[in-house]
Amino acid sequence: MSKPCTQCGRCCKATPCGLAVEFLDDVSSPCKALELHDDGKYYCGLVVHPSRYIDVGEAGAWKDEFLGTVFASMLGIGRGCCSEAETEFVNSLAPLFAEVRI
Ligand code: SF4
Ligand code: SF4
Repeated sequence: MSKPCTQCGRCCKATPCGLAVEFLDDVSSPCKALELHDDGKYYCGLVVHPSRYIDVGEAGAWKDEFLGTVFASMLGIGRGCCSEAETEFVNSLAPLFAEVRI
């Protein structure tokens, strides 16, 4: 069983994930969607407010909420520190979502 995620940001500083590769035009490290918030924790910008990073068409709060929820699920947020299996899962799904246009 994996350890809890402490939101240290180490993984995203080291290597952009499959979502970053599919949705961001710059995949240099650290990931440009990685955000350090006032609570001292790191957050994925694609989860918190996707429309700041990708074109979602006309802005709408529901799109941020919907996409953020989908991205969080793909990333395994809430399931502990990313394991190799979770990374493989994200990488395998990301190409599918490249076809999604909202
Ligand atoms: S989880 Fe978010 S911040 Fe981290 S590498 Fe992936 S897209 Fe970037
Ligand atoms: S998944 Fe692991 S390395 Fe990544 S932010 Fe969470 S605790 Fe840190």
